Amino acid sequence: MEQQIKQSNFIKFISSDTKSIAEKDDEPPGSRGEVSVFSTLSFKSNFLINSISVPYNHIYHSRRSEDEKIKYFRRTFFPLTTVKEWNDWHWQVANRIHRIEQLNKFLTLAEDERLVLSRPGLKLPMAISPYYMSLLDRDDAAHPLRRAVIPTTHELIQRPEEKEDPLGEESQSPVRGLVHRYPDRVLFLVHDLCATYCRYCTRSRVVGRGLLKPEKKRFELMLEYIRQVPSIRDVLISGGDPLLLSDERLEWLLSQLRKISHVEIIRIGTKVPVVLPQRITSKLVKMLKRYHPLWISIHFTHPEECTPEVSKACEKLADAGIPLGSQTVLLRHINDNVETMKKLMHSLLQMRVRPYYLYQCDPIPGSFHFRTSVQKGIEIIKGLRGFTSGYAIPTYVIDAPGGGGKVPISPEYWVGRDENDVLLKNYENKLFRYPDVVKER
Ligand code: SF4
Repeated sequence: MEQQIKQSNFIKFISSDTKSIAEKDDEPPGSRGEVSVFSTLSFKSNFLINSISVPYNHIYHSRRSEDEKIKYFRRTFFPLTTVKEWNDWHWQVANRIHRIEQLNKFLTLAEDERLVLSRPGLKLPMAISPYYMSLLDRDDAAHPLRRAVIPTTHELIQRPEEKEDPLGEESQSPVRGLVHRYPDRVLFLVHDLCATYCRYCTRSRVVGRGLLKPEKKRFELMLEYIRQVPSIRDVLISGGDPLLLSDERLEWLLSQLRKISHVEIIRIGTKVPVVLPQRITSKLVKMLKRYHPLWISIHFTHPEECTPEVSKACEKLADAGIPLGSQTVLLRHINDNVETMKKLMHSLLQMRVRPYYLYQCDPIPGSFHFRTSVQKGIEIIKGLRGFTSGYAIPTYVIDAPGGGGKVPISPEYWVGRDENDVLLKNYENKLFRYPDVVKER
C-alpha cells in the first residue's frame, strides 16, 4: 500500500507540469515523432500480464537482437500497449514494477529473492521501469542486471564497517540537498526519485523516500548559497535522477544557474538514459542545448545495458554537443572482471560516452555482497591499460569514507629512481628507464 501511494505520488510529481506532458513530447527513441498524451487510466488498463501462455522463456532466450527481445517483452507482458505508449517516458514511469506480486509475473523468483520480498522493511524501495525489466533474465537470479535491481536477503545484513552516509554528505551540506565538499564545485540534489533503483546506491539513505522534494523554496536557498560563494565554478545536478524532472522544471533550474556569472560549467549525473532512454526526447535535448557548457555523466553498470535504445539516446545527447562521460560502480559478480569491463568500455566509446570513473563500491548498509576487494579494481585497470585504447580506461577511485573526496587508485607503474633515471614498468611488466635529467628552475 505504501508503495502504491509512493507510485501515485510519483506520477503526480512528474506530471506536475501538465502542459509539458499533454503536449507532443517529440520523438522518443524509436517512436518516429508520434504524439503522446499522458493518461494514467489508459496505462493501467494496458497492464495485462496474467494470461501468458506462450513459451516465453524459450523465445526470449533465442539469439534475437536486443531490439527484438524488447519488442517481444512488450508484446508478451503489455499486449494492449502501443509502440507509441511504450516509447513514452511517462508511460514507462507510470508502469514501473514496484510490488512483489508484479515481480512474480516477470521473473521466476529464486528462494532468496522471494524471502526478502515477502518481508517488510526493505531499506531501499524497489522500482524498475518496464524497459529495464525487459533486459533482465527471467530465470537466472545470477544475471548481472537482475542482481543490480532485484533485492536479496543479503541486503538485510549490516556489517560494522557499513554506514548510512559513508561519504559524510550530510556533514558537508550547508543547505539541505546541497553538498559542498570541494572548494570549486557543489553537488545539487534536486529530489530523491529514480526511474529504477540500484540496490547498491550510495544514497540509499535518501533515494525513493519522497523526503527530498523538488521544491522551489529549497532550490532558491541552494541557489542563494551558490551565488554567495564565488569560488563555485562547477555545479553537478544529481539526486535521485534529475532527468525525471519535467523539461520546464529542469529548464528553470538551469536558467537560474546560468544567471550566476561564476558558475562556469553545469553537469548532470543521471542513469535515465540507461533505464529510461525514452526520456531523451528531442524536446529535452533542444532545451538542454541552450545551457552549454553542459556535461552529462551517465551511470552504466554492464555491457548488456548498451542497447539500441540507449545508443540512440546517447546519440541525441552527443549530437547536441553535450560531452558524455560514464560512471560505473565495481560490483561483485556483476562487472568484476576484465572482459566484462572492457566490453562495457568499448560499447561506451561506440556510443560516444567517454569512460570517466570506476568507483569502488561504497560501504552502505547491506552492501557486502556487492563489494569487491580493492585489489580486484587494480587488476581490472591493469587488464585494460595497454590492452585497449587509453580512452577506454576510466579512473578507478575510492570515495574516501567520511567525506575525503575521490582518491584515484592505480597500479604501480612508477617503480622508483636510480640516480637520474626514473624506473618504470609497462603494461607487460617490463622495466624501462626514463632519463629524468631536467632540473626544475
Ligand atoms: S540511479 Fe543513481 S541515485 Fe538512483 S538508485 Fe541508482 S545509483 Fe542511486
